[in-house]
Amino acid sequence: AEPMVPLLPLSLGDERAPKGGHFAALDRWVDALLASMARVTGAEGDGRPPPEAEDEAERCPLRASVVPAPAPGSRAVAFDLEAEARRCFEALGGAAWRSSSSLTFGTLASNEPMAAAREGEEPRDVRRVEIDLGEGAAWSPGDALAVVPSQRQDRVDAFLDRIGRHSDEWVVLGDGGDGGEVGQPDPSRAVHLGTLIRYCLDATSAPPRSYFFQVASRFVGGGGENEDLEREKLRELGQRAGRDDLWEYCTRERRSVLECLQDFPSVQLPLEWALALCPRLQPRQFSISSAQDDRGDRGACELTVAVVNYKTPWKREIEGLCSTHLRDLEAGSGEADKVPAWVERGSLRLGILSGALLGTGDGRRIGQESCAVLVGPGTGIAPFKALADHLTRLESRGQIARDARILVFFGCRAEEGDFLHQEFWEKCAEESDLFRRPGGFVAAFSRQNRGLRLARGS
Ligand SMILES: Cc1cc2nc3c(=O)[nH]c(=O)nc-3n(C[C@H](O)[C@H](O)[C@H](O)COP(=O)(O)OP(=O)(O)OC[C@H]3O[C@@H](n4cnc5c(N)ncnc54)[C@H](O)[C@@H]3O)c2cc1C
Repeated sequence: AEPMVPLLPLSLGDERAPKGGHFAALDRWVDALLASMARVTGAEGDGRPPPEAEDEAERCPLRASVVPAPAPGSRAVAFDLEAEARRCFEALGGAAWRSSSSLTFGTLASNEPMAAAREGEEPRDVRRVEIDLGEGAAWSPGDALAVVPSQRQDRVDAFLDRIGRHSDEWVVLGDGGDGGEVGQPDPSRAVHLGTLIRYCLDATSAPPRSYFFQVASRFVGGGGENEDLEREKLRELGQRAGRDDLWEYCTRERRSVLECLQDFPSVQLPLEWALALCPRLQPRQFSISSAQDDRGDRGACELTVAVVNYKTPWKREIEGLCSTHLRDLEAGSGEADKVPAWVERGSLRLGILSGALLGTGDGRRIGQESCAVLVGPGTGIAPFKALADHLTRLESRGQIARDARILVFFGCRAEEGDFLHQEFWEKCAEESDLFRRPGGFVAAFSRQNRGLRLARGS
């Protein structure tokens, strides 16, 4: 076998890096890669950056055909959102969602605010969200729930309107392939366009990449007075020379595909390109903050969700897609309270720690007086709450080593309104020997310049 030749080291990009965002690192890395490949292959490089992609005839990687709605009496009438969303995930290739084989549609059980801002402080919304994942779900302390957000219907409608389509249309998707002859689309493979955008393609939140602008510049038309200006600006944004502008206009201001299309009204994207250019909607992880109930309601898991809300440098108000979606869910609202999600093993291996505290681990018992120190400020407390919940349940059944202790450090702005799961920690410190000294719960309140320590028996 040929020996492996190291070409160049890993490079990490940062979307929020000034001067080009992640492109600042990517462009340098691509140049270094080309130079390195030229050295290895002996090909002469001229040291210049690669040419800009200008291939007018580039084929769309996706094929999309609008087909008539399924016949009356079929799924177009008895519309089942969950079944339709599953079909959409599959139509786009389930592999995009890492563990989508275990995708389940959980039901929101409760959703209540846990924190409130004090007067004169930035508004802040942290919520306790309980989702019932059903009987088959299983998780351990440290695991996270991956949640697929859904986009707001009014924004989905605005996007479809902008590309001249409607939410209640049906499309058959296919691979753009080699551009050869295409047969008639098979209507039995049709998916509901509104559901496809709402659950699978991020048209209304994530900023598009430079490729979006390269392609969009080829579809300027309609005879508007600003056509030439728009085409020129789109080309710039799609090229290397326009990296700084792209970062300032799009990434830093967090302009979505929809907003970019609204800013460039001459762009007339065909459906397949509009779908191909939308980033895939990414699931968000949330650390599960409760232990699995091994007797009662096995599937109900609790999340501690901070709702993301901030202003860009141009004072545009941005709401986090998934956390806002969870905030707006109402329990008992039928179809609308369904949450597509799956459990992901956490990188925090709290099971090992728990085994060590219980004395049931693989011999790595932490000395005579085991004390685990857990540090979790803000919503970072979530996995440790799940661990404490798990251990105190075992303790109540006499299944815990007598000298095991946990010492939890938590931080927030103020005791009033910001102290997440306060009642839970107070109960732990009152009732659990795990919280006897040297164990306990320590909270630091940054805006009040003080802290408190809760421990059993003190
Ligand atoms: C393993 C893991 C566990 C997690 N556990 C939790 C948890 O228990 N609770 C929890 O609330 N979250 C948790 N998160 C974070 C969570 O996954 C989401 O990232 C978070 O909820 C935001 O998602 P969103 O869709 O609401 O926001 P998005 O629409 O994804 O927007 C967030 C993006 O907005 C930008 N942004 C955010 N704030 C600002 C700002 N002030 N200024 C400029 N730009 C900003 C950033 O680019 C950020 O990436 C966890 C993440 C991981 C990886």
